[in-house]
Amino acid sequence: MDCFTCRNNARINALPPREVIAADDHWRVAHAFDTALPGWLVLVPRRHVTSIADLTDAEAATLGTWQVRLSRALRAVTGCAKTYIVQFAEKEGFAHVHFHVVPRMPDLPADRRGPRVFSYLGATEQDRVTEQQQDELAAALHEHLDRTDLG
Ligand SMILES: [Zn+2]
Repeated sequence: MDCFTCRNNARINALPPREVIAADDHWRVAHAFDTALPGWLVLVPRRHVTSIADLTDAEAATLGTWQVRLSRALRAVTGCAKTYIVQFAEKEGFAHVHFHVVPRMPDLPADRRGPRVFSYLGATEQDRVTEQQQDELAAALHEHLDRTDLG
């Protein structure tokens, strides 16, 4: 099986900051690698699952908490008005469940809102958020998540 997410899960301790912004026993948070929108995150289970229905109760138990914590961190770090959360897992090689957590910036053009925000994914090399910028965002998000973990 050729699964991009599983390959990264298998080497979690060797991943760059952008690929492991946060993690627990069940979930890992990464910056999307081919997006033109800074702060576009993906939340992925630590084991290979291709349908939400196959998540365990333990995985499900923290799913909502992650989605809300990431949304708060994105609001604090990027200034987004809100977040979009979307899960398809339809692309070849990307059947592994992944929740897109997308910062919806206040100035996002009207014609790119809602499902059309996906026009920012699959960006050409030239239009992508650079790996350095992804790592910087990852550090800021990680710090925010750390600080708010204590309450
Ligand atoms: Zn997988």
